[in-house]
Amino acid sequence: MDQDRSYRIAVIPGDGIGKEVVPEGLRVLQAVSARYGCRFRFDDFDFASCDYYLRHGKMMPDDWKALIGGHDAIFFGAVGWPEAVPDHVSLWGSLIQFRREFDQYVNLRPVKLMPGVPCPLAGRKPGDIDFYVVRENTEGEYSSIGGRIFPGTEREVVMQETVMTRVGVDRILKFAFELAERREKKHLTSATKSNGISITMPYWDERVEAMAAGYPAVRWDKYHIDILAAHFVQHPDWFDVVVASNLFGDILSDLGPACTGTIGIAPAGNINPDRKFPSLFEPVHGSAPDIAGKGIANPVGQIWSAALMLDHLGETDAAAAIVAAIETVLAQPHLRTPDLGGPADTVTCGRAIADALR
Ligand code: ATP
Ligand code: MG
Repeated sequence: MDQDRSYRIAVIPGDGIGKEVVPEGLRVLQAVSARYGCRFRFDDFDFASCDYYLRHGKMMPDDWKALIGGHDAIFFGAVGWPEAVPDHVSLWGSLIQFRREFDQYVNLRPVKLMPGVPCPLAGRKPGDIDFYVVRENTEGEYSSIGGRIFPGTEREVVMQETVMTRVGVDRILKFAFELAERREKKHLTSATKSNGISITMPYWDERVEAMAAGYPAVRWDKYHIDILAAHFVQHPDWFDVVVASNLFGDILSDLGPACTGTIGIAPAGNINPDRKFPSLFEPVHGSAPDIAGKGIANPVGQIWSAALMLDHLGETDAAAAIVAAIETVLAQPHLRTPDLGGPADTVTCGRAIADALR
């Protein structure tokens, strides 16, 4: 991050509706730049897309790390065009490489009920649901340590280890406590399962308790993952910052946004808080081949991702202004896209959000 509040952003639209919603995100960033005095240099990259794969036989150039590793952030659309390239090839050849090579150990997803978005939970209004899910993104249950013994026989045994390191657990907890400390409610909830998973989860709990001592302003609690999932549905108003291991966080970070309506508006950050490497901001949705090219994709997930990116860069006022502009626009039925039952196209909705910022 530069002292002078100018930022170099690597822009990677990717595939499908990524190419339609990313320009709307950039439009909104330009609008916010004019009003809040932060400046952006956008560098466009055509790799990490299936078009690139079809031309080059690989998803990215060999020097991709050098090309984007020095940027302040990556603004990403979506990857995947399963008709042309199998999803495991396109995903593993791009996004997963970014997450690993840039040590983006935090997966951050806001869960916020917006006006105009039908909530699947009865009786909930905007304001009732407003929290973050913080998922550990590099270790835990998603380790490749394990294997099969006596494969194919009656004595077959299959094992896969959960690996938690002190460094890995502490760094995600630190991020979550710091986030909670900055928020009004200053409340952190930890997902555990120490009654059933009797070695790693008690360790996780122990580290939460140790970390909490350093954040006396933060009120914290913990729930077993099963009841926590139920509480997401029955008491979403209880939460402020929810921190979880890789597997539990994976589940909660889909359940949370599902409780607040459509996939078209949810954003995500893949964050390297140490700023040694660029963090990546993207909508939760994919390339949506079924609606690509029609100009009807909801741009809000991408635009909200821009707000997450600004938060990460320290431009918190500009970030809050984008979220407020999204709320203003979604409250008007004629500016909603078809996935929300409205008549607006991608550009109309994106322009309206940019205009609300001027
Ligand atoms: P991924 O590429 O992450 O695997 P997916 O293939 O599971 O994603 P998406 O591409 O997100 O799923 O699409 C799922 C459904 O949601 C599709 O019917 C798609 O049209 C719809 N959808 C996704 N994003 C949007 C959006 N921004 N606006 C409107 N509809 C969307
Ligand atoms: Mg897909």
